[in-house]
Amino acid sequence: MAKTTSISKEWMLEALVARGDEQKQLHELAAKIRDENVSNNVYFRGLIEFSNICKNDCFYCGIRKSNNTTKRYTMDKHEILVVVEFCEKSGYGSIVLQSGEQKSKKFTTFVSTVVEEVRKNFPKMSITLCVGEQEKEAYQQFFESGAQRYLLRIETSNQEYYKKLHPKNMNFSDRYNCLVNLKNIGFQVGTGVMINAPSQTLDMLVEDILFFKEIDADMIGMGPYIPHSKTPLYGAAVDNVESLNLTLNMIALTRIMMPDINIAATTALQVIHPRGRERGLLSGANVIMPLVTPIKYRKDYMLYDDKPCINESSEQCANCVVGRINSVKLIPKRWETGDSIHYLKRIKNVD
Ligand code: SF4
Repeated sequence: MAKTTSISKEWMLEALVARGDEQKQLHELAAKIRDENVSNNVYFRGLIEFSNICKNDCFYCGIRKSNNTTKRYTMDKHEILVVVEFCEKSGYGSIVLQSGEQKSKKFTTFVSTVVEEVRKNFPKMSITLCVGEQEKEAYQQFFESGAQRYLLRIETSNQEYYKKLHPKNMNFSDRYNCLVNLKNIGFQVGTGVMINAPSQTLDMLVEDILFFKEIDADMIGMGPYIPHSKTPLYGAAVDNVESLNLTLNMIALTRIMMPDINIAATTALQVIHPRGRERGLLSGANVIMPLVTPIKYRKDYMLYDDKPCINESSEQCANCVVGRINSVKLIPKRWETGDSIHYLKRIKNVD
């Protein structure tokens, strides 16, 4: 694939469908851009799925509130801190506290208290929250408690398609406004989309990358759409080969368009290919998110079917991810927070 100097939508569309040698060149270009702009280090985010209670009913999600086959749980503060201690010992410079969406004073207070305790007991640990749409005041409280980063996936930047993925009481503009609020408060802000979901088009995916750029995201986490049998979107078979190729090309294109952000090689990639995460790293990603949720809860946090690593202990996962990073000749960077370089430049107002 010829190197592009000014990137057009046409070129992006062509890159999305690149296969064979052209695809290899695309991924090599993205990896080179990553190495030049954010180095060849790979940073760890220990993923703690602390509650699967959710008030929403997204049509693609296995822990949607209407799925009454899921046993609901919330880890208590002590359980969470034990996991954070494991992360620190394992050299993970950062944790992600993730849950379904709950909106209440009680929930805001619980999350803020956990963040304060992590900050107090593990001062070097960077904290990312992924707890959905909240009021601006709640975001402010989380930030003042010590959380530095926030992930809120837009899932699709196409407003009509957004309606097909969500019930009527959820809307695109609310989620967009949350991203704006998070940024104004001072968080490092991450977002992302599903890839190769039913009736999604290539044009939509190109628009998604332009959306990441427009909102000036600091971090991106995106993965292939993987069906869950207890959701309304479940039905037509999904072509996993296509999902893998599109996801890898999306990672590569995002890296080319946004050279200094952090991009995750998500666990969902490993569902559709045994070396999916390594392939993500080879396509320009620089972050990996080992699962550290206690094993007894993992089977109840099934966003999609066939989630990997459900029975591996966190210790096994830690060894496994380091091996995966070494296997693609990148550097596992332990005990470092790996802040988004884009964010650091953004707050200093430099190009
Ligand atoms: S995607 Fe998030 S908000 Fe939607 S149902 Fe699942 S956990 Fe809840």
